[in-house]
Amino acid sequence: MKVIKNPKALQKILAGHRRGGQSIGFVPTMGALHEGHLSLVRASRRENDVTVVSIFVNPTQFGPKEDLKKYPRPIRRDKKLLILEKTDYLFLPSVEAMYPPGQPVYVDTEKSGRDSLTDRLCGKYRLGHFRGVLTVVAKLFNIVLPDRAYFGQKDYQQAVIVRRLIEDLHLNIFLKILPVIREKNGLAMSSRNRYLNHEEKMRALSLSRELFSMRRQIIQGQKNLKTLCRSAARRLSRSLDRLQYLEIVDPVSLAPAQCLRGNEVVLAAGYVGKTRLIDNVIIPPLRGVKKRLSKSRLTR
Ligand code: AMP
Repeated sequence: MKVIKNPKALQKILAGHRRGGQSIGFVPTMGALHEGHLSLVRASRRENDVTVVSIFVNPTQFGPKEDLKKYPRPIRRDKKLLILEKTDYLFLPSVEAMYPPGQPVYVDTEKSGRDSLTDRLCGKYRLGHFRGVLTVVAKLFNIVLPDRAYFGQKDYQQAVIVRRLIEDLHLNIFLKILPVIREKNGLAMSSRNRYLNHEEKMRALSLSRELFSMRRQIIQGQKNLKTLCRSAARRLSRSLDRLQYLEIVDPVSLAPAQCLRGNEVVLAAGYVGKTRLIDNVIIPPLRGVKKRLSKSRLTR
């Protein structure tokens, strides 16, 4: 595995691969790698000739009171893991390389109040977070120019916003969103899980437990979303120190679902101690709904 720190140097190397007709897969990360990240690397390895992984703790996506300084940076361990996965290139830029001095340019969605993809859910609690994400992802995409980019469903809202970035800026990149990788007990893997002590880990489990329970209830026919959310939120508020949101949303617009058609997403975020955790589950296509839809289409 070659470790490249300079954006221009990486561009030059990758241009050579492209000229040789090789496809490039890209996995952007902030490091402190776990099986979730590695599942993305493995998918990229399977589907591309060359795999580039970036590790960059992006300062512009952290709020002033967030954990930028203490975000884990076990770079030697990360390198070892990536070598074991036969990663071709690790892109490891400095903050100065990614944000050259002078007036910065940012990428952001239009602020259309409540309808903005970036102002809902996590965006409501992490002001400016998605502007930082969009900006760094746009920079990384322009440096790597990948054929395929790999993101995790774990950060569902982020994946939806990156899809919009690709569509709206006409980027020629195929976005792959891969399932959440979980611990055996259901806890979604996250670099931030290492902040949790044993007791906090036990309480953190309630997040996935409630989400899966809601999913099960919906599959079994529960249609009253308000009741479902209210009782799950009540239980979650007892085990988490602070529940920020628990919502069932449309998978594309992220607007609150009015009724269930299948494919909606149930998302939650909250704090256990000082650690902020997020998780989500996707509702499968619901039996019976298709029939109703096609019937109404016929009668229209
Ligand atoms: P991060 O290093 O947290 O910025 O994450 C880098 C990428 O890994 C993002 O696309 C995440 O959605 C993805 N990711 C993080 N945790 C998981 C997980 N448990 N399962 C699958 N993908 C994940």
